[in-house]
Amino acid sequence: MSDMPTKILLDEKDIPTHWYNVVADLPSPPLPPLGPDGNPVGPEQMLAIFPGNLLEQEMSAERWIAIPEEIREVYRIWRPTPMFRAHRLERALGTPAKIYYKYEGVSPSGSHKPNTAIPQAWYNKQAGVHRLTTETGAGQWGSSLAFAGQMFGVEVRVYMVKISYQQKPFRRSMMQTWGAEVFASPTDMTNAGRAILEKDPNNQGSLGIAISEAVEEAASRSDTNYSLGSVLNHVCLHQTVIGLEAKKQFEKVGDYPDMVFGCCGGGSNFAGVAFPFLADKAAGKNVRLVAVEPTSCPTLTKGVYAYDYGDATGYTPIMKMYTLGHDFMPPGIHAGGLRYHGDSPLVSQLLHEGLIEAVAVPQVATFEAGVQFARAEGIIPAPESCHAVRACIDEALRCKQTGEPKTLFFNLSGHGHFDMASYDRFFAGQLEDFEYPREAIEASLAHLPKVG
Ligand SMILES: *Cc1c(COP(=O)(O)O)cnc(C)c1O
Repeated sequence: MSDMPTKILLDEKDIPTHWYNVVADLPSPPLPPLGPDGNPVGPEQMLAIFPGNLLEQEMSAERWIAIPEEIREVYRIWRPTPMFRAHRLERALGTPAKIYYKYEGVSPSGSHKPNTAIPQAWYNKQAGVHRLTTETGAGQWGSSLAFAGQMFGVEVRVYMVKISYQQKPFRRSMMQTWGAEVFASPTDMTNAGRAILEKDPNNQGSLGIAISEAVEEAASRSDTNYSLGSVLNHVCLHQTVIGLEAKKQFEKVGDYPDMVFGCCGGGSNFAGVAFPFLADKAAGKNVRLVAVEPTSCPTLTKGVYAYDYGDATGYTPIMKMYTLGHDFMPPGIHAGGLRYHGDSPLVSQLLHEGLIEAVAVPQVATFEAGVQFARAEGIIPAPESCHAVRACIDEALRCKQTGEPKTLFFNLSGHGHFDMASYDRFFAGQLEDFEYPREAIEASLAHLPKVG
């Protein structure tokens, strides 16, 4: 046995005291969100659905933003999260590469999402708002916000994408256990939902549609705000606790990654693990940061960098981001958390400026990687996380051919305990690869909003 540890652990006092804001290290300032008139959206409009304190973070260019003590106190329930050296996976692959992963599945909801759910519930409460609406795809975000609401006495209503509502009933039970209300979206409770159902009564829902419903309700009720689990700058900011801890963990064992991988849906997980390393890159360090997405929803690798709506209906301001078009309906793949038409504007800008990379991996090979990982390391990854596992294994296998002993690192964003039906379908040979749905994407891109 090597004396290199398997688990690399930190103390509670090592929970970061500040979030890292990548805006401070961008080569050029981010482009503002625009309203229907083509002008930057003023805070007044955003205040209808977000509290001022979070909007301040959304616009901030400060490098470090202090984490309030009450939030660090809840973080202590599961943070710092462990980092592992994947000795057994390395041996199974026969690679000279060193593989490390950080495990966010130890949070109460089983993913990285409470890292931002907790501060969002807290900041809303500070601003006097005691009710939140949100959407959820695979159910990970809805359960995280339900948990966060429960921690601070904030009511939570969740619009859950219909296909996931049907595929993952225990995610719904979880949200209800933490006291949230859950509805299958599209619902007949909002104008956005009714409009979709009128055209297509069997619509299976999408994140874009569920966002429209949650935003519509929050905008129409003064006691209610909206909470988003990914994409926005403040969400990426909160997730940086992952990468900040990881850097301390690497320091502890005297190593540093050549490449960092994170699966990427709306971008907050990737941002969380990668942005703190970007600070080092900006300071001249050589580290490659790779966002991994599904070939069926290839936003970063096949989308365009353009202004588009964040939701399916066009309620939200438009943001400059990689997008497949706001009405692109991705195939019903088993990584629900990665079925979003757009991507974080910050992640998008970094890709556009060549500071990060993106790859797309197909569904079947992704589950193969997840199973290989589980058989070597024990932990069963969420289908979303399997994307990062796939890309990291691919690189480790390249290292095997070239003999390079690279240091590879990925974030294992969550466990797959609520996704075993997807694993069952994989074992039954029922999963398909959906290659780049060119026609659907082109049709959707034809509806991008006109700017300028
Ligand atoms: C939601 C989710 C993702 C995708 O997160 P983004 O931040 O939107 O890219 C990845 N992994 C897991 C386990 C998730 O729950």
